[in-house]
Amino acid sequence: MADSRQGRLAGKNAMVTGAAGGIGLETTILFAREGASVLMADISEPALERALTKVKELVPNPPRLQTIKCDVSKESDVAAAVESQDAHGGIDVMFNNAGIMHAQDDDAINTPEAIWDLTQAINVKGVWYGSKHAVLSMRRHKKKAGSVINTASFVALMGAATPQLAYSASKGAVLAMTRELAIVHARENIRFNSLCPGPLNTPLLQDWLGDDVQKRHRREVHFPSGRFGEAIEQAQAVLFLASDESSFVNATEFVVDGGLSRAYVTAE
Ligand code: NAD
Repeated sequence: MADSRQGRLAGKNAMVTGAAGGIGLETTILFAREGASVLMADISEPALERALTKVKELVPNPPRLQTIKCDVSKESDVAAAVESQDAHGGIDVMFNNAGIMHAQDDDAINTPEAIWDLTQAINVKGVWYGSKHAVLSMRRHKKKAGSVINTASFVALMGAATPQLAYSASKGAVLAMTRELAIVHARENIRFNSLCPGPLNTPLLQDWLGDDVQKRHRREVHFPSGRFGEAIEQAQAVLFLASDESSFVNATEFVVDGGLSRAYVTAE
């Protein structure tokens, strides 16, 4: 385990949204192990408390760890969370990761407008607000470098006959927005990259699939690797994108999907 003073993120301040969930929590653990101070932001306070306990159990002598209740669809919440780090020198790394996939999200005919709006508010506006306030913080503190990672999805890269129209559209928006942010802010040395996870073993997807064997089979048959991904496998990619090791990696769609989005026919 890395000494937090010598880790790959030593001395950096990071904010992670959706920090109490699958990818967010694993990323927080890795970030803390690698020497970053982490502000864990999530809409659920009880889940944040449980997540903080877990990080403390797994990372002895962590750098500064804080939690904050934050609904990323509300700009005032995001601004307050980011500004809370002004006392600590502002943020160096922003992981805009909070997102939802609603049970009523369906095809063009059946998706309720309220579900469409909610999905865009969290998945798209949340990423915009996080990106905006990260840039403002980095400017306020005259950072020489910054890294913003926005969670999109493999579904933004390929179509599927099992629709979740609002979700797919929202993740496509994350890709387009992140690409443009990356170019606009490149001369400030603020890098923006999208993370495109494949289907994972996290509550977001597993709760939605439940014990519906047919629904699971409909998807699993297409996985080249024959399995769901794990949140830690996403966190490892986020760590790379957050660290200075990726200093010339900008505007990418960083795909961590076991090859799914490149597959035509897979092994039986
Ligand atoms: P998760 O459900 O385990 O965690 C999501 C977290 O976000 C939860 O802790 C939840 O409380 C929080 N959250 C929800 N709404 C919020 C809001 N308005 N403000 C702040 N926090 C909020 O999900 P996960 O699998 O860890 O997903 C994280 C990201 O990865 C999401 O953007 C998701 O769309 C994306 N993703 C997931 C998968 C997958 O298969 N799980 C695949 C591709 C992309």
